Amino acid sequence: MTSPKQLFSLQELDLALDQIDSKTAEAEKEVSLGAALRGLEEAFREESQSLEEFQSLMKTRRVEAETQRERSTRLDGQLYGGEVTSPSALESLEQEAANVRAQMEKLDLELAELSSRTEESQNKCTEMEQRLAENRTAWESRQSELTESLTRLSSEREGIASQRGDLAATLDPAGVQQYEKLRNAKGGLAVAKVSRGLCQACRMALPTQQQQKVRNGRQTVLCSTCGRILFLT
Ligand SMILES: [Zn+2]
Repeated sequence: MTSPKQLFSLQELDLALDQIDSKTAEAEKEVSLGAALRGLEEAFREESQSLEEFQSLMKTRRVEAETQRERSTRLDGQLYGGEVTSPSALESLEQEAANVRAQMEKLDLELAELSSRTEESQNKCTEMEQRLAENRTAWESRQSELTESLTRLSSEREGIASQRGDLAATLDPAGVQQYEKLRNAKGGLAVAKVSRGLCQACRMALPTQQQQKVRNGRQTVLCSTCGRILFLT
């Protein structure tokens, strides 16, 4: 028969493994924050590209606006210079000048819109760059710590897992199975110490007869309240 004492030792190892696993998960979660940094880098690249596109579009539109302005000046000169006198020619000049003005207005509106989008994008880029610089510095120092601690946790885990394997191999499989089932069902604690007549897991007093059975140690006694395997130190 597997004694509660042996199962208690097994549980100590399992609890140590649980703790290592939860520390490992935490460290791995933090490592994934490094991936978030890469996400930020990607977002920065995209925003910089948008900014370049806005800037180049603005350049093009400015040249177009300048061309229209020159055209408008030339048309005004023709309209008011006195050289053109035919009413139909003047009318068509007038029409052309109106078209050019409309195009200039359109371009000005577009330029105003582009200018505000460029500024917005510029601000975003600046802010992202700053955040990246801060995160990179923090991340570089933290990353080596995390790598070290993950290596240490992994070797600790290996040692304890091998101890657990050795111990479990000496125990009766049915007992280990019962223990494992209970541990799953009882939040990781299958074996409870008895101290001053109380089950230390659920803190309920044990009937005298039950305490007696635990003391005898000839059979597995479960706490009548929480159902855990009782173990008297
Ligand atoms: Zn109990």
